[in-house]
This record gives sequence, C-alpha cells and structure tokens, in this order.
Amino acid sequence: MNSLQDKVTLITGAVSGIGEASARCMKEAGARLALADIQDGSELAAELDAIFIEVDVADHEAVEAMVARTVEHYGRLDVFVNNAGIEIHSPLVATTPEDHCRLIDVNLNGVYYGLQSAIRAMINNEGPDRGAIVNTASVAGLIGAPGLSSYNAAKGGVVLLTKNAALEVAAFGIRVNAVCPGIIRTPMAEGFEAMSGGMISLEEVGKTAHPMGRLGEAAEVAKLICFLASDDASFITGAAVPIDGGMTAGPSAGDFANLDMNG
Ligand code: NAD
Repeated sequence: MNSLQDKVTLITGAVSGIGEASARCMKEAGARLALADIQDGSELAAELDAIFIEVDVADHEAVEAMVARTVEHYGRLDVFVNNAGIEIHSPLVATTPEDHCRLIDVNLNGVYYGLQSAIRAMINNEGPDRGAIVNTASVAGLIGAPGLSSYNAAKGGVVLLTKNAALEVAAFGIRVNAVCPGIIRTPMAEGFEAMSGGMISLEEVGKTAHPMGRLGEAAEVAKLICFLASDDASFITGAAVPIDGGMTAGPSAGDFANLDMNG
C-alpha cells in the first residue's frame, strides 16, 4: 500500500541518517519529496526524483524560503518532517555559551521556525485533513542524559512544542507528533564513541543502553515517521512516541538478564 501516495513531503536533515532513511521510506510510500539540508543533497535528490533545498534551519528566513520553495514547486505542502539536528557532548559546567546557543538554535529554534512555516502553508490545503508534521525529538526529550545538557534542554522543548502545536492546530485538521529515538546507528551516534575516547564502541553503547540489547536502525525510525505522517495515523496527534528498545520503560535489560523465565 502506498500510504503517502502523492503527498508533498518536506524533510529537513534529509541527507544523512534518520532523515535519509525517512526520505527513502516516504519515496517507497509514494510521496513527492523536497529534501532540505545544510550539506549538499543534490545526488540523493536526483536518485529519489526530489528537489533539494539548501538550508540552515537555525535561520528563520531560510526556513520560510525552504517552505515557500516547496510550495512553489509542488503547489502545496502535505507532510513536514522537522528532523535536522546536531549534538554536543559536554558536561553542563564546561559547555560554552556559543556551543549551547548553536545547539538550541538548530535543535529547538529550528523546529519552532519549521512548525510556523509549515503550518502556515498547510492551513491553505482544503479538506478535513490538511497536513501532518513529525518532529524528531529523542529519548533525551523524555529523560536526562549526562553530558547532553543543551541537547536535553532542546529535545525536552521539542516534545512540549509538539504538544502545543498539536493543540493549536488540531481543529484545522493538521496533526503534529514527535518521535523519540534511543541510540540509532547514524553518523551522529558515532559521537558516543568519540565521547568515550574510543574506549567503548557504538555497538557496546547500544547493547547496554537499550533493554533490547542492540542499537536502533535509522530505517526502523523512518518507518515510524512514515506511519505518523500517513493517514493510517489519522487519530494520533500530540504524541511523543519512544522508539528506543525499551530504554525509557524502566531499568536496563542487564538488571533482569538472570531472571528465571520459567516461573
Ligand atoms: P545525522 O548527523 O546523520 O543527520 C543529521 C542531518 O541534519 C545531517 O544531514 C546534517 O547535515 C543536517 N543538519 C545539521 N545541522 C543542520 C542545520 N543547521 N540545518 C539543516 N540541516 C542540518 O544524525 P541523525 O542521527 O540522523 O539525526 C537526525 C535527528 O534525529 C536529529 O534531530 C537528532 O537529534 C535525532 N536523534 C538522533 C539519535 C541518534 O542516536 N542518532 C537519537 C535520537 C534523536
């Protein structure tokens, strides 16, 4: 089933990791794509028969122009995936104002600008279902993580911004949801390895962090994003959905590894 057939879909951070996997998933589901990123994505755009828009999501005017370009090209906007993000690993007391402000500008303010521009465009659509927005938050928007103070602050903001926007636009037939991934195998996650000075591998981090004992894959998150963006999720709005191998459900699998499952 092509659950996003002909839906005009704009994805930020579309050139790598979760954004790229979402672009591929949405193409397969029949969407017409606009791929936006701060790094060049013309090759991927050509492969997926998409348009590429260069953008820094921290720049309010550039975000407005990104949405305007999508609407100019396709005539409308149906789905927006507010996904671009960066990460810094630094203890709270050691984080510089510059690093903190850049992270908030990209991961929180960029999402805010994207919501504003996308909602303004979707309001012009006709019918009861005028659009769907999916924000990429994180488990770090739900629980604290040492070394990720600015990231925690931004993603926590994204979770509540999702709920705010969902409430404000529900009556207009626009749904707004967030995904909250655990540790997903992408270039960003390689930062975890770097943080440990190479002492602990990404595989090992994934194994110990998630009760399911492994890393998540970008394609798994993409499937959730595609579902939330599609009409199959027609009664879901304001949700922040964990996709984290059980990480936010409670203590890690290791604590229960020796449980006798035979009663
Ligand atoms: P990634 O680094 O593979 O991809 C991020 C993309 O965003 C890149 O293509 C990058 O060029 C783009 N980008 C960065 N800054 C930008 C800016 N200012 N303007 C426009 N584009 C910009 O990382 P990913 O893991 O795919 O991350 C995607 C989203 O998922 C992010 O919001 C991230 O915070 C979130 N996330 C990732 C993980 C994980 O473990 N990988 C976990 C939870 C949440």
